[in-house]
Amino acid sequence: MTSSRRPFNFSAGPATLPEPVLRQVAAEMLDWGGSGMSVMEMSHRGKEFGAIIERAESDLRELLAVPAEFRILFMQGGGLGENAIVPLNLGRGGKVDVAVTGAWSRKSAAEARRYADVQVAAEGFVPVGQWRLRDDAAYVHVCSNETIDGIEFHELPQLTHGVPLVIDCSSHLLSRPIDWRRVGLAFGGAQKNIGPAGLTLVFVRDELLGHALDICPSAFNYATVAAAQSMYNTPPTFAIYVAGLVFQWVQGFEYAGQRGLAAIERRNIDKAALLYAALDGSGFYENRVPAACRSRMNVPFFLKDETLNERFLAEARAHGLLQLKGHKSVGGMRASLYNAMPLEGVQALVSFLQDFEARHG
Ligand code: PMP
Repeated sequence: MTSSRRPFNFSAGPATLPEPVLRQVAAEMLDWGGSGMSVMEMSHRGKEFGAIIERAESDLRELLAVPAEFRILFMQGGGLGENAIVPLNLGRGGKVDVAVTGAWSRKSAAEARRYADVQVAAEGFVPVGQWRLRDDAAYVHVCSNETIDGIEFHELPQLTHGVPLVIDCSSHLLSRPIDWRRVGLAFGGAQKNIGPAGLTLVFVRDELLGHALDICPSAFNYATVAAAQSMYNTPPTFAIYVAGLVFQWVQGFEYAGQRGLAAIERRNIDKAALLYAALDGSGFYENRVPAACRSRMNVPFFLKDETLNERFLAEARAHGLLQLKGHKSVGGMRASLYNAMPLEGVQALVSFLQDFEARHG
C-alpha cells in the first residue's frame, strides 16, 4: 500500500473516513479475525457477527453516554426513510410540529404530512420561545444540523410542554455530545461521521415504543426492531462492522490533551473556527450564515465573483482538495469538516483559499 498522502475529501456524504479504519478494513477483507470469511460473507446470526454488532453498540453507547432508557437500533432507509418511519411509529395519526430551519427539515415536514397533521413551528432559525407548538402534538421535529444550509443547533431546544423532541442529527452525529435529557428520539444516516451509507442509527426512548400505526412496515416498526436486537431482518452487516471500527477509532482519538469524543469535538471546533475566520477575513469569499448558528460540520461559502467557480473547483482538485462543490440547490461551495477530516486538511484548504484569492482577487 502506498504511504503517500491521500487527497483531502470535503464531501458532505458519503464522506471521508479515518485512514486507519480503511486500512484495517482492507487488511481484514478476506479473513476477519481468523474466521476465514469476509464480514460481508458472514451470517448476521453467527457468533462472529454477533460479537461485531454487540461491541459496536456498546462502544457507541459509551461514546455518546446514551442513557439506559434509550434503545439503539441499527436500521436501513437513511434519513429520508426516517422521515416516514418516525411519523409511522410516533405520530399516532395525530399532530406533529416541525421547525423548518433548512432544506432537510422542510423535507421532513413534507413527508410527515402523509401520515400526520403537520404544523410548521418556525420558519428559519427562530428562538424556541417563539415557536408555534401544540400541547397535544405527538412530537416536535428538528434537524439539529442542516447539511445543505450549514446551520447547526449548538444547544438543543428545551421543550417545556411535555412533548418529545425528535432530532435528525444525520450530519453531526458523533461530532459532539448529545444532551439526551432533551431528546425523545434521534436518528442519523451513517454516511457522514460514522461509516458507509446503508446504515441508519436510531436512538429511541423505551416509552415511545409500541405505538406504530398499522400501516407501518414491520421491518420499520421500532418495537419490532428493538425486540429483535436490530436483527428482525438482515441488518447492513458490513456497514455496521465499519462503523464499529470508527467507534474504536474515536475512543482512542487524542487531541489537545483530550481523548475520545471530547478530543473529536475540540478538533471540530478548531477546524471550523479556522475556516470561518479565513472566510470572514476575506473580501473575496463569504459565508452567509449568522455566527450563532453556523455549523461546525458543513460550511457553505461563495466566491463573490461566481464566474470563477469552475476554475476554483478545478484548481482545488489539482491541489488535492476534493468535492468542494456546493449543493445544487444553493450553488457556490461547501466544505464538510467531518470527524475524519484532519486539521491539516482545513489548513490546506485555507492556504488554497488565500492563494486563489491572491491570484484572482
Ligand atoms: N437529513 C440530513 C440532515 C441529511 O444530511 C441527509 C443526507 N444528506 C438526509 C437527511 C437524507 O439522508 P439519506 O440520503 O440517507 O436518506
